[in-house]
Amino acid sequence: MEKIEHIGIAVNSIQSAGSIYEKLLNTTVYKTEKVASENVLTAFLQCGPNKIELLEATSDDSPIAKFIAKKGEGIHHIAFQVNDIHAEMQRLKNEGFVLLSEKPKMGADNKLVCFVHPKGTNGVLVELCESVEETN
Ligand code: ZN
Repeated sequence: MEKIEHIGIAVNSIQSAGSIYEKLLNTTVYKTEKVASENVLTAFLQCGPNKIELLEATSDDSPIAKFIAKKGEGIHHIAFQVNDIHAEMQRLKNEGFVLLSEKPKMGADNKLVCFVHPKGTNGVLVELCESVEETN
C-alpha cells in the first residue's frame, strides 16, 4: 500500500462539520460529492498529502446512518492508496482478510474502492482506493 489517502469521518451534517473542519485545518472543503450507491454525501478537505472525508447519510438505510446510530459521530474508516486494487484485493484475500465486496466499486473522488471487514483488522474499517482518470 502506498500511503494513507484519507480518513473518513461520519457526521450528522456535512454543512456544520464542514465549517468546523475548515477552521480546524485552516483550509476549505474543495469538493462535495454524492455517492448514490452508498447513500452518502461526502466532502473533502486536503491536509498536506492526506485528505479528510466527511460522510453524511442521505437515507436511513445508509451505512453511515447505521454507523452513527450505533456509535455516534466519529472516525468511520481509514483509506489506503493502492496502485492496483485488484492485485491488492487478491493479496489480502490470500492473507485471510474478508473483503466487503467481490469487485471494486466506484467511490467518491474518482476512486475505485473496496472495504475490508473490520472484524479482521482490530475493529478498523479499512478502505483500499485506486485513483482512476476523471471521466465526464
Ligand atoms: Zn473513504
